[in-house]
Amino acid sequence: MFLLGERLERENKTVKAMVEIYCKKNHKSNIGSCRECREIYDYASYRITRCPHKDNKPACTTCEIHCFSLKMKEEIKKIMKFSGPRMLIHHPILSLFHYIDKLKEGSLKKNTSKS
Ligand code: SF4
Ligand SMILES: [Zn+2]
Repeated sequence: MFLLGERLERENKTVKAMVEIYCKKNHKSNIGSCRECREIYDYASYRITRCPHKDNKPACTTCEIHCFSLKMKEEIKKIMKFSGPRMLIHHPILSLFHYIDKLKEGSLKKNTSKS
């Protein structure tokens, strides 16, 4: 086991929470997530925890590397679209950090484009 940076750890937790919300509502899963959703989470987690950007990781949607397969990209997109708005209710702290990360990313891009 290797140590993850704060950002990657948080992102990994956020994806797990989103997959669980999606699974609970759509597949009526009572504990964690069903096998299909678990496989999606495992796939995303493997990539996020090994993201070459490390703690400067951008949102995957704006990444130029795009390390997800097309199929998994669509699966995660579907889950995020469903669970994103529900995160504020179920996981307000993770949701807040997710928002802060997005703001930081926006300001980083602005600063980079000025130079
Ligand atoms: S798509 Fe980009 S940002 Fe997302 S995990 Fe892969 S390399 Fe990292
Ligand atoms: Zn499921």
